[in-house]
Amino acid sequence: MSFDLVLFGGTGDLAWRKLMPALFQAFRHGSLPPGGRIIGVARDDLSDDSYRAFIKARFDEVELAKRPREEEFARFAALLHFVRMDVTQAGDYARLAEMLKARDAQTVVMYVATAPGLFTSVCEQIAAAGLNGPQTRVVLEKPLGHDLASNQAINETVRRVLSEKQVFRIDHYLGKPSVQNLFALRFGNALFEPLWRRENIANIQITIAEDLGVEKRGAFYDHTGALRDMVQNHALQLLCAIGMEPPINAHADAIRDEKLKVLRALKPWTAQTLQEHVVRGQYSAGSIQGVAVPGYQQEAGVAPNSQTETFVALRAEIANWRWAGVPFYIRTGKRLAARDARIVINFRPTPHAIFSTPAGAVNRLVINLQPKDGLELHLLAQGGDKRQASRSQGVMQLAPVQLDLDFDKRFGSERVGAYERLLLDVIEGRLNLFVRSDEQEEAWRWVEPILDDWRHATHPPRPYAAGTWGPSAASAMIARDGFCWSEEC
Ligand code: NAP
Repeated sequence: MSFDLVLFGGTGDLAWRKLMPALFQAFRHGSLPPGGRIIGVARDDLSDDSYRAFIKARFDEVELAKRPREEEFARFAALLHFVRMDVTQAGDYARLAEMLKARDAQTVVMYVATAPGLFTSVCEQIAAAGLNGPQTRVVLEKPLGHDLASNQAINETVRRVLSEKQVFRIDHYLGKPSVQNLFALRFGNALFEPLWRRENIANIQITIAEDLGVEKRGAFYDHTGALRDMVQNHALQLLCAIGMEPPINAHADAIRDEKLKVLRALKPWTAQTLQEHVVRGQYSAGSIQGVAVPGYQQEAGVAPNSQTETFVALRAEIANWRWAGVPFYIRTGKRLAARDARIVINFRPTPHAIFSTPAGAVNRLVINLQPKDGLELHLLAQGGDKRQASRSQGVMQLAPVQLDLDFDKRFGSERVGAYERLLLDVIEGRLNLFVRSDEQEEAWRWVEPILDDWRHATHPPRPYAAGTWGPSAASAMIARDGFCWSEEC
C-alpha cells in the first residue's frame, strides 16, 4: 500500500522527539508499508537533504537502543522529504498539492503537529487546496481546545471539511501497550468480568505521576495546567477503559460508544463536591532523587505568582448500575515523588474473617503503565511460619503476596511503542485507539465546572514540595472515605 505522510510541524519538538523515532522503529521492524514518503513541512528553508541531516542529528538525542545505525538511517532517509511552507498561507499549499497529486498515493496522512491555534486553519486549507479526497486522513494532536466552547468550535470547523472517519484525534495513552492490555484483560479473559463491579470493588485509583517539572515548556504549561494537560484527556480515557461495558465487537465505534456512555454517566459536580472532591496543587522547591529543584514559579516561562495547577487529585463517580457508589480517584502531577503511572483496583475485604490478616490488606489488582508495564495481583497467603501461628494462638496468619507479570520481560523490549502503534493505525485506517469528537466534548463538559470554580477561587493552589506525593489535602480527601492512596497503605 503506497502512502504519503505529511508532517505539518516537521521540524518541531514532537516531530523529532516522538514521531520520527516512532516512524523509524516501524521502519526497522518492517511494519511500515513499503513505498511510503514522509514529508516534513515547516517554514524553514530546507532541502530534502538538509531535512534528512536535521533529523539525523536529532536522533543523537534519542535513547541509544532506538537510534539508527548509519546504514539503517541511509535507507530510512530515502523516505524523507521536505516542503517549505507557511500553513497559514493558502498559496503555499500549491507545491504540496502538486507533490501529492503527482504520486496519487493510496493513503495520504496529514499529521497536524503545529501549534494548536493552527489546527483549524490547516484543515480548512487542506480542503481549499483540494487535498481532502477519500484517501486523506488527518491526525490532530492535543490539546484540541482550551475548554468546551473552543473544543466545539474546532470540531465544527473540522466537521465542515472532513468526515469523522477521516479524523484521528491522538491520545497517545491509548497507544500504550499497557492500555491495550487493559482491554485484553477485561474483554479477552473471563476471569475478572464477574468481579468488575460495585459489589466487589471498593475503590479505583488512577495515578499519572511525573517526577519531571515543566522542562522547556513552561510558557505552554502555564496556560494549560494539569487538569487540561492530563485529566481531561489521558486520565479520563483510562477511567473509560476501566469503567466501560464490554463493547459488542472490537470496531472503533462500538468501543467509542461505550466510552462515551461512561463519560455521560460521570456524576456532575455540585458546589459541595467541587470543594470536597477536588484538590489542586502547585509545586514549590524541593528535591528529586537528592537533587535540589526550583519551585514552579521559578521555572522559565512561568508567570510570577502563577495560579496554574501542577497537581490535581479528584474523586469521580460513574452513576450507573455497575459502579454506583464506587469512588474513582484520579491523581496527576509534576515533580512528584516518582515517575509512575498506574491504575489500582482495590477489592472489598472478605465478608467474614476467619484468619488473621495485616490491617488494611485487601486483594488489589495493579495495572502498571509506566515506567513498568505489567500487572500485579496482590493476594493474601499463609507463609508457613510456625512461630507466628503459635503467637496468634493457632489462628492462621496471612501475609500479603504478589503475582507479578512484567510485559516487557514476557514479550520483549521490542514491543511496539505508543506513537509507533498509533502511526501505523492511521496509515492502515484503524480508528479504535483514537478519540471521537463527542467523547472529547463530553470530557470537556465534565471538567469545565472545575475550571470555572478555579477561575473564581480566592485561594491559590495548595503548595507541595517537589519530590513528594502532592498536597496533604489529597490524602485527606481519600481518607474521608476511609481509604488511602496505594503507596500509603
Ligand atoms: P514546536 O516545537 O514549537 O514545533 C512547531 C512546528 O510547527 C515547527 O516545525 C514549526 O516550524 C512549525 N510551524 C509553526 N508555525 C508554522 C507555520 N505557520 N507554517 C508552517 N509550519 C509552522 O511544537 P511541538 O512541541 O512540536 O508541538 C507541536 C504540537 O504537538 C502542538 O500542538 C503541541 O501541543 C502538540 N504536542 C506536543 C508534544 C511534545 O511533546 N512536544 C506532546 C503532545 C502534544 P517553523 O517555525 O520553522 O515553521
